[in-house]
This record gives sequence, structure tokens and C-alpha cells, in this order.
Amino acid sequence: MGQQLSDAVATLSGVGPARQKGLAELGINTIADLLTYYPFRYEDLQVKDVNEIADQEKVTLKGTVASEPVLARFGRKKNRLNFRLLIDHDVYMVTFFNQPYLMKQIETGQDLAVYGKWDATRSSLTGMKIINPNNADSAFGSIYPASKTVKQGTIQKMIKQAYELYAPVITDIVPANLRAKYRLLPRRQMIHDMHFPASQADSTAARRSATYEEFLLFQMQMQVLKQTDATTNGIAIAYDNDRLKAFIKTLPFELTHAQKRVVNEICLDLKSPKHMNRLLQGDVGSGKTIVAAIVMYAAITAGYQAALMAPTEILAEQHANNLAQVFADTDVNVALLTGATKPAARKTLLAALAAGEINLLIGTHALIQDGVTYANLGLVITDEQHRFGVNQRAAFRQKGGQPDALAMTATPIPRTLAITAYGEMDVSEIDELPAGRQPIQTTWVRSNQANSALSFVHQQIDNGSQAYVVTPLIEESETLDVKNAEALSANLQEYFGASVKVGLLHGRMKPEEKDAVMAAFKAGDIQLLVSTTVIEVGVDVKNATIMMIYDADRFGLAQLHQLRGRVGRGTKASYCILVADPKNQQGIERMQIMTQTTNGFVLAQKDLELRGAGDVLGVKQSGMPEFKVGDPIADLTVLQVAQQDAHAIVQQPDWQSQPDNRALAAYLSQKLAAVGTLD
Ligand code: ADP
Ligand code: MG
Repeated sequence: MGQQLSDAVATLSGVGPARQKGLAELGINTIADLLTYYPFRYEDLQVKDVNEIADQEKVTLKGTVASEPVLARFGRKKNRLNFRLLIDHDVYMVTFFNQPYLMKQIETGQDLAVYGKWDATRSSLTGMKIINPNNADSAFGSIYPASKTVKQGTIQKMIKQAYELYAPVITDIVPANLRAKYRLLPRRQMIHDMHFPASQADSTAARRSATYEEFLLFQMQMQVLKQTDATTNGIAIAYDNDRLKAFIKTLPFELTHAQKRVVNEICLDLKSPKHMNRLLQGDVGSGKTIVAAIVMYAAITAGYQAALMAPTEILAEQHANNLAQVFADTDVNVALLTGATKPAARKTLLAALAAGEINLLIGTHALIQDGVTYANLGLVITDEQHRFGVNQRAAFRQKGGQPDALAMTATPIPRTLAITAYGEMDVSEIDELPAGRQPIQTTWVRSNQANSALSFVHQQIDNGSQAYVVTPLIEESETLDVKNAEALSANLQEYFGASVKVGLLHGRMKPEEKDAVMAAFKAGDIQLLVSTTVIEVGVDVKNATIMMIYDADRFGLAQLHQLRGRVGRGTKASYCILVADPKNQQGIERMQIMTQTTNGFVLAQKDLELRGAGDVLGVKQSGMPEFKVGDPIADLTVLQVAQQDAHAIVQQPDWQSQPDNRALAAYLSQKLAAVGTLD
């Protein structure tokens, strides 16, 4: 078979196992992945006129080499390469530091373009790179997200190589009528201009086409999944209403009105043969877990199994402990399956699951791995569903039957976005907190006031309360996060002295260690818990009344809100202390809004206004899928148009076999076939 965009990147020269692994970490497995690995900015390589450039400006100059290059070595490893460049009858000095190999590439009399930094006082250029004459048609250098293992230069070279080899097999995916309607570029040109634009206008046009393509492909996946839902019958779960009512009576509290309402909404879906695909939104502490327990119990009374999937091991374990208690007086058999489950225990568990002896399985991603077979899965609930993508949702569906699906999230997403992003999931909302909750008082202090905040913490602990202290977040480096947390906990232990026991929790600890620490904190043996953000969602200790967050301005509002939701869960007055020295007005406003409202929806809206979608929604903590080019807020209209177009396409009878749609259909069937093979 000839070349295909689905070829593995390993087919390129220079890609061995190590590099392949590095690329996989960037999400690049195939040539197609590589070609759609778009730059996030461009360097201006346009050749400039010497008279128009400012001091220290980065520019490209073009001229004729007017002297033999001279290499001067100094120090042990340092060297400098000098030559003169003739531009319009004037001669300028060009200097490259520590790139001696350039000697070979520079010859007197040769025409050359050099990118570098201009020194106006000396009329000289400190060279950064020589612009490949083959690249002369591209006036921009593309800059890609790189990593420690895969460097910028490597990515650039590989994309160039991939494009040169595979350009002939890049064919259009977006149907011709839509391309004509929106004047989109042919795909080959679009990909070319994304990577090697000749002008600003070219790159803008390419980006416009790429955004539409990305959104259309996403919406098509949603529409196809939705159509599959509509045409394959879901299951009608005939639950035992009397037993369900009796169970609800055993709970230690009365459900709020909002909880009752959403339980009813979900139960109606369970009963109907329609496939349930529902999002349950509710602010932190609104009591989503008990709603989950009730509806799972309903499914179990009808003879089905239920599964509850959480994003982290800590949360899965907490749910398991919690629900084991909730179901203690029933005959529901609860089990926990995570990556930490030992092979022997896992084997026993899987056998019991396949035999239908386990009614409720709680866990992490482990729940959808190969080899996990359910006897009769009727209901799947994902907690903090924003951590799971479309693929995971689809994978669950492939676990046999057509289980009803409920996704719970505490991250409120503005409705227009939710609808476009989730492909019209039904939405239930818990818009009320259980009675008796104390509002959380939030204050913001500068880091030089942290000590007075700590003495307040001390006071509260002396009064019998407990506190969380969250350490600064160091982007991209878990190791540094851990170091920070260790240092801070040692400092605080010293500061508070022997009467206060300080505990430490971080992501590098073994599950048993984390458990032990959490258990000690719950039992009150630890009074102050220093933690990285692993406690972010869901953790529930009612006696904890203080949440102190260092470097709070490094966190998103949604995440701060989540962290704050760890306190104020009992009846004691609770406090959130933000320690931050924001660098700009936007940072100041973000700290201020935190002190002004505890309403998650207000915060989400504000976060959007202040930071834009890229930051709020592009990242892990949001409910939105991650897009490579498109920005679901800035390009919301495109997203909506793409949704309408996708909807219209799947409405056509036999849409896959129409010539115009064939490429699109082929792309999708490949994409959806890959679902289920999860990492
Ligand atoms: P969420 O997951 O929505 O953040 P949880 O389900 O963890 O919230 O509930 C927070 C706390 O409130 C838990 O301790 C739970 O037992 C308690 N709770 C839930 N519903 C009620 C209620 N109706 N009345 C009183 N307490 C409740
Ligand atoms: Mg929860």
C-alpha cells in the first residue's frame, strides 16, 4: 500500500523508538497528527530594509557575503564567527556565537539571509540563524509547542519532511459544497500555509479554514454518536420504587428540593427505553454524590450493575468508602478498582464482576480498560466529567449493552457553550445547597502578610478546627511541586511547634500513603494538611474550616473555587485565605472576585470575561474538549455554524455514501474505530 496520512511517524527518517515516545507524549502518533500539529506563533522572517529597523529588533537581513568568515575561539567552549554582509552598497558585520559549524555554509560572494538581533549603534547583526534559501518563500518561522525530549528544531524539521513526503496524499475532508460556501482553502494548501505561510494574510486564511475543519470534525463525531444513541435502543430500567423510597428514608438528612428534582429527572430517563445522556451540574458541596448513590441504587434494584468513574485514585477511594457506608444496610455489593489494585485482587474482582456478584463498581480509568467485563451494566456515572473526553464516553458505551450515562460536574459551563460542546446532552442542575451551610469567608492577603494569616490559622486550630494549606503550583513540574510542598510542611511544622501535627499530601505518594494521611486528617490526628492540588475535588472533611492557598493567582478561578469547596462542609464558620501578589490588574480582579462571591456560576462567567476561553476552557479543569486551533469562545460562531452543518449532514439519508461526504465518512469511521483503545 502506498503512503497514507495514517502512517506512523516512525516511517520518517530520524524517528527511532525514543523520539517516537517523545512525540507520542505530545499527542503525535501518525503523520496526520504531525501535519495538524500547528504552530502557536510565527517569527517574522521577512527581509527588512536596514534603515527601517529599531535597535535590538529581531529581523531578517539579506545581502551578499563580502568577506571570508573568521572564527575566533575564546574560553574553553566559546567561539565567535564574523563575516561581512553587503547590503545595497553598505557593509554590515554579522556575528554568530558558538555556531562554528556555520563556517561551512558561508562563502564569499554568496547571497544569504540571516535572522538575528540588530544592534543599531554598531550597525551590526548578532545572527541567530541562517535562513534556508529553500525557505525563502516563507516569510515566517513557525514556532511549535515543544517539550524537553522533542525540541523546536526537531519538530520543525519533521513537519517539513512529513509535508514534503506526504503532500501528494493530503486530500480534502470537508465536503466541497461547504468549502465553496465558506471559501475555505483546499486541505493541502491549508496545511502548507499553517506551517509555511508566505504572509500574515496567508496564515490568517489558513487558520480560518483549519478552525472550521476542526470544529466540523468534532461536531460530526458528536452527531454520529448521537445518531447511534437514537437508533440503538437504550435500556428501560424498571427499578423498584418502594425499595428506592425506603432507601432514601435511611439517609441521615432530608434531600434538598433541588436534589429531589434531579433524582426525578434522572429516574424518568432510567425508566424510559431512551438512552440517557445527561449532565448533572451542581456547585461544590451541593450534594451530587448522594444523588448518584440514589440513582445507582435504583438501577441495582432492577438487577443492573452500576459503575462510578472518578478522575483520581484519591477520589475513587473516597467515593468507595463513602458509598460503602451509604449502602451498609443494603445488600448492594460495592467494589473498588483502580490502577493500584493488586493483580490477584484484580483477578478475583473481575471474575465477580463478570459473574454479576458486584453491583456497584467504583474506580478510575481502570473501569474501561480491556479485560473489564460487566455482567449487566445499566448505568455509568462519571464524576467531575470534565476530565474525561468524548473518547472515554464512547468507550464506556462499548462495554456492552447501552448503559445510561450520567456525567457529574462542579465546573459550571455557560449554557451556550455546554450545548455546543456536549452535542446537546440533557442538563440537570442542583441550584441549591443543603440547609445550615455556613458561608465561607474569603480574604486575600499579600505574601508579606502571610504570617498574620498563619496566626489566625493557629487560633482556629487551637479552637479545635483543621486546616488545609495548598502549596504553589509549579507549572509542568510535578517534582518541583513536591519539593515545594515538602519544604512548606517542614517550615509550618517548625512554625506551629509540637502542639500542631502537620501532614503532607502530594501526587507522588503511593496510594496507601495518601490514604493513611487522609485517614489521619479525617480522624483529626493531623490538624494541618499541606498539599499540592491533589485534594482539589471532592475530598470531604467536615471539621476542616480553613483553606489557605499560596500563590493563589497561579490557579484558575474554577480551581480556586473547587479548593475553597473543601471547607464549609460542616456547620462551623469557614475561611478561605488567598495568598497572592498578582502582577497585573487582571490578577488583582481575579483575587477580588473570589472574595466577593461564592457562586460558582458567577465565577465561571467572570473567569471567561477576564481570561478568555483559551485559558479557562482550553485546560484540564474545564468542561470543554481541547481544540488545536479553534477557540470555542472567540470562534463561537464558527463552532455553532459547524454544529448546524454537521447536523444537516447526518440528516441526509445515507449521507456516508454521497460522493461529497465520502472523505468525511471515511475519516470518521477511522476516528471512531480508534475509540476504545485507550491509553
Ligand atoms: P458535591 O459532590 O456536590 O460537591 P457532596 O455530594 O460531596 O457534594 O456533598 C457534600 C456534603 O453534603 C456531604 O458530606 C454530604 O453528605 C452532605 N449532603 C448532601 N446532601 C445533603 C442534604 N440534603 N442535607 C445535608 N447534607 C447533605
Ligand atoms: Mg463530588
